[in-house]
Amino acid sequence: MAQVPDGRLLAPGVWAPGMAAARPRDLCTDCGISRTADHQRCGRACQFIRPDYPALEARVHGRARDTARPDELFFGPFRRMLRASLLPPREGAQWTGITTRLGERLLETGAVDAVLAVAPHPDDRWRPLPVIVTEPAGMAQCRGMRMGYAPLLSLLEPARARGHRRLAIIGIPCQVYALRALEAELGFERIYVIGTPCSDNTTTENFHRFLGLLSERPETITYLEFRADYHVEIRFADGRRREIPFLMLPLSELPGDFFPLTCRSCVDYTNVLADLTVGYMGGEGEQWIIVRNERGEEILGLLDGELRAAPPGSAGNRKGPVAGFLKNTERAAGGLPLRRMPRWLRPLVGWLMPKVGPRGLEFARARLEMKAIESVIHLRREAPRRMKHMIPAHVWALAARYGLRSEPGEQP
Ligand SMILES: Cc1cc2nc3c(=O)[nH]c(=O)nc-3n(C[C@H](O)[C@H](O)[C@H](O)COP(=O)(O)OP(=O)(O)OC[C@H]3O[C@@H](n4cnc5c(N)ncnc54)[C@H](O)[C@@H]3O)c2cc1C
Ligand code: SF4
Ligand code: SF4
Repeated sequence: MAQVPDGRLLAPGVWAPGMAAARPRDLCTDCGISRTADHQRCGRACQFIRPDYPALEARVHGRARDTARPDELFFGPFRRMLRASLLPPREGAQWTGITTRLGERLLETGAVDAVLAVAPHPDDRWRPLPVIVTEPAGMAQCRGMRMGYAPLLSLLEPARARGHRRLAIIGIPCQVYALRALEAELGFERIYVIGTPCSDNTTTENFHRFLGLLSERPETITYLEFRADYHVEIRFADGRRREIPFLMLPLSELPGDFFPLTCRSCVDYTNVLADLTVGYMGGEGEQWIIVRNERGEEILGLLDGELRAAPPGSAGNRKGPVAGFLKNTERAAGGLPLRRMPRWLRPLVGWLMPKVGPRGLEFARARLEMKAIESVIHLRREAPRRMKHMIPAHVWALAARYGLRSEPGEQP
């Protein structure tokens, strides 16, 4: 795993501190805790060891998810959801830049002394490099998504050593889980947590191989996103854009372990322990914001007058696509070839899916159910003894809708 031996100032107010090497761990996304002085805290902090979502949801939001409330079974505890865009959209942002603008506002208003976020590595734009940002203008350096594991929480100790008392952290779910599990003992006065969803990640090296399949000049690709309209969007350094329907992607040429077991069995797609989650999956071409608690309202309030916002929409029916996904995942896990659509039919279905497939919140629900199905099938095949502790009850409830139920010994 990446090691950054010396600290580095990337821009005024954007510091990448040096960090210790990661301790090798089975099922680990290098959130950074194993690089801290007390690396044994992994046992208490890790979402892959013995997570307790209901207890942490109750501690962070005042209550665990209420499965009787519409959509909480899927998206975790929340107060409200929005479909939104930042006006104007920011140059270099993954979507419109709401996430980094929130960090900027927290610094501008003095609510925090520092923001922990992820910038591109100076030697490789796709390699995530955790940074401590202390100047509002420095947040622009963090815009955009990098594929790879970022030891973000290794910055907690340097941040404390520099005297920062009030922090904001922008992180993906496996980082936020460990942060919340340890929050009470970290010694900060206040931590604001802005989460992004995350459904799949892989090493930066693997990601470069993927880019190599998409273009003869992968080094010219500056942007990539798996959009909610079933297309991957790629942008190039010369300003060109390409949109490839998911069905036309060269996924069969990727190795079976392209996505590691951690991400294939990850149960927290929507970052349920963040104060607010900023993504795109339920946003129908705009961003998707889930405000989870009072602090999330306070953070979002900092963008008063800067957002175009509306309630999120929902259309289509996810049942068929999710049931098809279950069958295909079972076949693949059993060593059988995937049932692939004939090549001639793929462009047609690729064109049709954005029009008739699940959209908006229905698309996000579909992804949650697919992730639940994946977690059960992949863990059952590759790490069955982990199932009992790694799969929370709400994930079983999502999978059970498609007939996938626990077997003896798989639940506590
Ligand atoms: C690996 C990965 C997978 C994702 N999958 C989904 C998904 O399936 N559905 C969905 O709705 N959203 C997903 N997201 C979030 C999405 O890519 C956008 O970050 C989000 O929509 C915010 O857009 P923005 O324009 O507000 O962000 P910007 O203002 O451009 O800011 C991007 C933020 O992402 C952070 N970041 C970038 N790379 C990493 C990294 N490797 N690890 C941790 N943080 C990072 C930066 O710190 C920065 O604050 C994913 C993000 C990552 C990193
Ligand atoms: S807590 Fe973080 S560093 Fe420790 S094992 Fe889990 S993911 Fe890895
Ligand atoms: S899919 Fe889950 S485990 Fe993998 S990087 Fe994203 S949040 Fe972490």
